[in-house]
Amino acid sequence: MDRDPSEDDSVADLSLEAESPLAPPAELLEQLPSYDRLLQGDRQQIFFPPLEAPGRPQEQRPWSSFLEHRTPVVTEEEAREALLSFVSSKCCYGSAAAGSLVIRELRQRTLCRYRLETFSESRISEWTFQPFTNHPVDGPQRGAFPSLWDVKVQVPPMFQEDTRKFQVPHSSSVKECHKCHGRGRYKCSGCHGAGVVRCPSCSGARRKAKQSRRCQLCAGSGRRRCSTCSGRGSKTCATCKGEKKLLHFIQLVIMWKNSLFEFVSEHQLGCPGELLARARGENLFKDENSTVYPIVDFPLRDISLASQRGIAEHSAALASRARILQQRQTIELIPLTEVHYWYQGKTSVYYIYGTDHQVYVVNYPERYCCGCTIV
Ligand SMILES: [Zn+2]
Ligand SMILES: [Zn+2]
Ligand SMILES: [Zn+2]
Repeated sequence: MDRDPSEDDSVADLSLEAESPLAPPAELLEQLPSYDRLLQGDRQQIFFPPLEAPGRPQEQRPWSSFLEHRTPVVTEEEAREALLSFVSSKCCYGSAAAGSLVIRELRQRTLCRYRLETFSESRISEWTFQPFTNHPVDGPQRGAFPSLWDVKVQVPPMFQEDTRKFQVPHSSSVKECHKCHGRGRYKCSGCHGAGVVRCPSCSGARRKAKQSRRCQLCAGSGRRRCSTCSGRGSKTCATCKGEKKLLHFIQLVIMWKNSLFEFVSEHQLGCPGELLARARGENLFKDENSTVYPIVDFPLRDISLASQRGIAEHSAALASRARILQQRQTIELIPLTEVHYWYQGKTSVYYIYGTDHQVYVVNYPERYCCGCTIV
């Protein structure tokens, strides 16, 4: 995928020169028979990547580290400390309750979070044009243009999303501007080329109705300079920017995207899933390659199934429209503690989640309103 600057097929980066796609003139199509397929239908087509080589065999993964893993147990003091520090970060929460509530029970779980990230590339081609300024034209006379997946470009760093536009080598040709017919200017539609329009105040009568003095706006001439063309009667062609000619070429649009699949193992505690999805975890397993293979033998069956499901979902979603460049699957351990407490005759719960002991409180008993938004 590396771009070799000495190569004839090197491409110009057009990221800054986006122009709306437009069908090329018919005579251009006749000159480019080998791209007929590309120009069917809506004149925009996704090219399918070549099939990948068959997969490597499944390897055995050592899960002993998981089985031996002991999540540090959250003690009562740690549970209270986490709550106090959470409460002190909120202006509306009083710390007296956190300091004096009675902790009755700590229910601890270690959850597994599986993530699959897939970095893929998709390519779209479309005809486009830009004003022609006298630079060398890389047209069909310099060779046949490559098929879209053969155009070599610099791939951004893995998992870094980007969209860029390139000019397909040897696809360019210069044509007279179809909008102004090669004149670089066209007649102003505001004044039909006259440079002046009828005075809007007196409607050309030179004086206003029932008034004897002449119209002040047009000084009695009945006409005003056309504001659309500043009195010139013509306008610079917006299509060719006055250059009279257009460079038509096939533009290759490449999109690099990340897809994410995420699964957190069952826990039967009331902590919201979206908090656990972004909780800080302890990395247990990481596998990164151009293609990763489903985990089949993880001690938690849910996680193995999630891996199989995630990989199947990503390949089904991407197979027909993109090429997978890199995949990364991870398994992390997320500690979660449900703290049952008693305060002023009532019992309730809060949660401590993640390796950094984040807190989620359902109904904190000591809240004030100081005018801020309670979240
Ligand atoms: Zn005008
Ligand atoms: Zn007037
Ligand atoms: Zn023009």
